[in-house]
Amino acid sequence: MIVTLPNGLLDGGDLFNKACIDELRGKQQNYLANRDLVVGNIGHIPKILEDMLISLETENGLKWEGDLKKVIWKLPSGDIETLLVKIRENTFGERFYFEAECSHCGHNHKNQRLDLDKLELNRMSLEEITDSKSRTLKLPKSGKEVELKPIYLKDYFDIIKITTDSQDKLITPTVALSIKRIDKETKVTSEMIDDLPLKDIHYIGEKMEDMKLEGTIDIDVYIKCKKCKKEFVIRLDVYNADFFSHSRGSKSSTT
Ligand SMILES: [Zn+2]
Repeated sequence: MIVTLPNGLLDGGDLFNKACIDELRGKQQNYLANRDLVVGNIGHIPKILEDMLISLETENGLKWEGDLKKVIWKLPSGDIETLLVKIRENTFGERFYFEAECSHCGHNHKNQRLDLDKLELNRMSLEEITDSKSRTLKLPKSGKEVELKPIYLKDYFDIIKITTDSQDKLITPTVALSIKRIDKETKVTSEMIDDLPLKDIHYIGEKMEDMKLEGTIDIDVYIKCKKCKKEFVIRLDVYNADFFSHSRGSKSSTT
């Protein structure tokens, strides 16, 4: 299956944003059944992606010559999520069933159907990828210049590590993951964020909401509650091993 990535890999002026992917086979089912990889972790994700990626090409069919096993670490989260959705679609088809609990009244909605082939991409153009100015901020209190970056796969592993290891140091390491540089310093540590004025940290958070840091696939699902009639949103958890469960493709057997 050929997949269009919302970002792609920029290399030597060429944008490689077409991925050819395989379908899940018995080998990958072993990863999904491995508790060490999947419980409180996303260890199955790099393994599946490494196995599934067959080639990476430009729109004009120029093949990327680099190491495909390493490239998954260079793709923004929007590309990773797109690949995961399409791997599921290529394996079991586009139909996907899930349960959703209303965030207002707690009512549980079973057998919600989503067609994975209908999810929309918000793509990043070559101009947007290379325009670092649009991701750069001047902080109001310290006057420092900050360039923001997309989230990568490695960042997710860092987030999991942060949330399980150090509950008392939750905020600043997570902010640090979204920052590419502060002034000329490109090795941004959580200690550097520890020292920033709180006003600047809030400013970064606010601006990040409106900035386009990367292309995405729309995996937010809006549902109108059957009980309280209010609308709520749930985000498809493509990083959960259960996303690749065969039973999610049929209505009767969702768990
Ligand atoms: Zn409700």
